[in-house]
Amino acid sequence: MNPFDLSSKVALVTGGNGGIGLGMAKGLASAGAAIVVAGRDAKKNAAAADALGKQSPRVISVQVDVRDKVSCQKMFDAAIKAFGRLDILVNNAGTNIRKQPQDYTLEEWHTVIDTNLTSAFICCQLAYPVMAKAGGGKVINIGSMMSTLGAAFAGPYGSSKGGIVQLTRSLATAWGKDNIQLNAVLPGFIDTDLTRTARKQVTGLDERVTARTPAGRWGTPDDLAGIAVFLASSASDFVTGAAIPVDGGYSIQAG
Ligand code: NDP
Repeated sequence: MNPFDLSSKVALVTGGNGGIGLGMAKGLASAGAAIVVAGRDAKKNAAAADALGKQSPRVISVQVDVRDKVSCQKMFDAAIKAFGRLDILVNNAGTNIRKQPQDYTLEEWHTVIDTNLTSAFICCQLAYPVMAKAGGGKVINIGSMMSTLGAAFAGPYGSSKGGIVQLTRSLATAWGKDNIQLNAVLPGFIDTDLTRTARKQVTGLDERVTARTPAGRWGTPDDLAGIAVFLASSASDFVTGAAIPVDGGYSIQAG
């Protein structure tokens, strides 16, 4: 038996149409899972489904705004309608607005918190009855280095990502009895659309990250494929409530 085999499983990846979400979706597809990629941008969704279709014939894309519970419910309905089950949920959709804390509007605060944290809570609530009824499931929540470290330009973002870790621990505690494992992945600095704008907006970030990362480079979305397969598969059945850095060593360097 291959403990990493996902060929009987169905995975839903929010924000799966690009960046880290697509990197994780590729890993899950290569392990055999059927994939539902979800994001706001229909063109990005279609392109991601095409790319994933090369690895798995069982792929659909769904348009969703994860800040909206009704939209999320429709996404779950589409997944169940297409594949009849849902075993793996990756709460990956995320955004950032970079400012000094005193300069945020309340609307900007809500945009970041609702996209990154409230969305994960909504999707976990929607996944729970499906997974509990099926006898178990896997949830992967995407945190950040800023789940534990502070950054002057990331007040709402860091709050949302710290919240992701505590949400993961709380739900893992509650739903262990249902054989649902929830874990958080804390990516280091990964080259995506999100961080391409950060490199422009935050002076010196590019060089500081490379210098602090023992691996000596920024990560790529493909660097997240392996952890997704592990946390989605039976190989991780006794791993729950963990917050696992995938950061080339960024978070373990003392100075
Ligand atoms: P991208 O900008 O490439 O991806 C963000 C994804 O989220 C897109 O697929 C986007 O799809 C989707 N998304 C954003 N808002 C919404 C929304 N309201 N509803 C539905 N989908 C939405 O960035 P990354 O790949 O870098 O980020 C993915 C996750 O990884 C985020 O949670 C981010 O915080 C986290 N992360 C990233 C790090 C990095 O270094 N890149 C480091 C640590 C964590 P669409 O455009 O179609 O809406």
